[in-house]
Amino acid sequence: MNSTAINTEEKVQQGWWLTTTIETVVNWGRKNSLWPLPFGVACCAIEFMSLMTCRYDFSRFGAEAMRFSPRQADMMLVLGTITNKQAAVLRRIFAQMTEPKWVVCVGACASTGGIYRTYGALQGIDRVIPVDIYVPGCPPRPEAIIKGVVELQAKMMREGFKARKADLDAFYKSMERQQALEDTGLSPQQALQQMFREAAANGQSRIW
Ligand code: SF4
Repeated sequence: MNSTAINTEEKVQQGWWLTTTIETVVNWGRKNSLWPLPFGVACCAIEFMSLMTCRYDFSRFGAEAMRFSPRQADMMLVLGTITNKQAAVLRRIFAQMTEPKWVVCVGACASTGGIYRTYGALQGIDRVIPVDIYVPGCPPRPEAIIKGVVELQAKMMREGFKARKADLDAFYKSMERQQALEDTGLSPQQALQQMFREAAANGQSRIW
């Protein structure tokens, strides 16, 4: 019998098998149940507010359950200009998120500092936390943020369970270094500045 002529119910009755991998099934579940945590500090956050309206229907991508507690979220969206003073807060919130966790960097400011080529603006959040997807634009439209999340979902389906372990291990190690510096009496911001100086001495621009 031609297999295309057999419907699904007949296939089940005949004991057909479906083979896949645990990673594929788990990643499929993860990509369709993302819980976003918006770290919105400037105009890009307004675009994200638009995205969460019914016009764009973000729930089509299984990511409408927005949370403001890092313990209940697994996808951080960084929306806006991050200053050097905010960098330590961003790192702490990222550290508090449940694993596995992902970061979508939205807009020129979060990605590179954007137009703020100044001493006070962080020139890219990937200097302080691992980033998975960058969304270009100033500001990116809501459709561009959707595209970024869809790209993240595709990346999640390609990833093995241990794909980001090295990045996260390096990040947690940098948190330990930050804590050690703070224990000497430095503020979180001063600790990060010291870590940036140490990274620059090794020819690096990121501290994790
Ligand atoms: S990228 Fe543009 S729109 Fe987004 S926060 Fe920066 S200045 Fe504002």
